[in-house]
Amino acid sequence: MHDETIAIHAGYEADGTRAVAVPIYMTVANDFIDAEHANSIMDLAIPGFHYNRINNPTNDVLEKRIAALEGGTAALVVASGMAAVSYAILTVATTGSNFVVAPQLYGATYTYFAHVLSTLGIEARFAADDQAASMGRLIDDKTRCIFVESIGNPAGNVVDLESVADVAHRAGVPFIVDNTVATPMMLKPLLHGADVVVHSLTKFIGGHGTTLGGAIVDGGTFPWSEHAERFPMFNQPETAFHDVVFSRDFPERPFVVRARSIQLRNTGATLSPFNSFQLLQGLETLAIRLERHEANARAIAAYLARDPRVEWVAFAGFPDNPYYPLVEKYLKGHVPSIITFGLSGGYEAGLAFFDSVKLFKRLLNLGDAKSLVIHPASTTHRQLSESELVAAGIRPETIRLSIGLEHVDDLIDDIDQALSAAVH
Ligand SMILES: *Cc1c(COP(=O)(O)O)cnc(C)c1O
Repeated sequence: MHDETIAIHAGYEADGTRAVAVPIYMTVANDFIDAEHANSIMDLAIPGFHYNRINNPTNDVLEKRIAALEGGTAALVVASGMAAVSYAILTVATTGSNFVVAPQLYGATYTYFAHVLSTLGIEARFAADDQAASMGRLIDDKTRCIFVESIGNPAGNVVDLESVADVAHRAGVPFIVDNTVATPMMLKPLLHGADVVVHSLTKFIGGHGTTLGGAIVDGGTFPWSEHAERFPMFNQPETAFHDVVFSRDFPERPFVVRARSIQLRNTGATLSPFNSFQLLQGLETLAIRLERHEANARAIAAYLARDPRVEWVAFAGFPDNPYYPLVEKYLKGHVPSIITFGLSGGYEAGLAFFDSVKLFKRLLNLGDAKSLVIHPASTTHRQLSESELVAAGIRPETIRLSIGLEHVDDLIDDIDQALSAAVH
């Protein structure tokens, strides 16, 4: 059996049983046997559940499967991808510190880093590009992590994870990777030097555009205790959680325990167990959906590349894509079903194409069973200035397609008529 099959289907229930269907535990709090049982659970001395803001048996199954798929030691699921991104950063960064990021980011992640964390006195240092050297240059003794998207959304860049991990580790900082677009079926960043992985489960993993969710996966690899001065929050008694020392008391999964007990427990972006159940169902068909997503995307990318009405096409599956060597190295020959392209006519032509599609949905999402189109300059990245747009790898005419599971001929017919409406 493949590792992924085991991770997705075999369970990892606490008692070793292989549950076929995962029950949904729709309860806010859990019954204790007695006071000692209650205290042991709340001190994390034994596994168990007490209050569902913090964890829940259904979410626990999802956490174990995501951790197994990524090859991590533990995972935390939360209400959305943005909650996962924010909890991951706030688990290491505090006022007066900074972190270094590749500029090609999801729109809300960019805004959160550039304009929200700054109000808390946490500085996101945007590198000039996604190269390890550019990021390494920005690290100083106040740097708490490097953060990248393994495949940038919507830019489509593929980051050379091993070289970035190397730069991070030589400087003594952890490497956090948003692996949403790639999914662990295609890429497992922890095998390439990442220390922590975050996900929006809303995208390919859920797969149907019905359910928000996010995850943080701990690789259990970062030597927090060797960098005690940079990371007091992992090495000194935590007053917000009965003086636990995370690196000492939870050496295999300190990041996830800290994210759960400090961020989730106190600020509460909890994933509903019902959403967890839906995401678990999505996970069961992830592998087979990705095959169809990819086949459709390859056919549509080839169609766009042949069409004279299209000025440029960026697709990870094209050998002339500048990232192709990294696609081969990191994605095992697979590509995500994301295509970006541009028409002559700039912003107006992009907008006209967007307004003309009939089968594609004008939807702010990706990885959905349905095919989706976005014109980032007028939607997801609307709040960015022109120079911020350029830095994020987006042009005024850029159209992003997320190719779904429909029949490919119907998708091509729709693109054809929308191109005719947009290009004169
Ligand atoms: C969608 C997305 C997010 C945010 O996820 P939500 O579940 O929408 O909050 C973060 N990172 C990437 C790369 C995404 O595509």
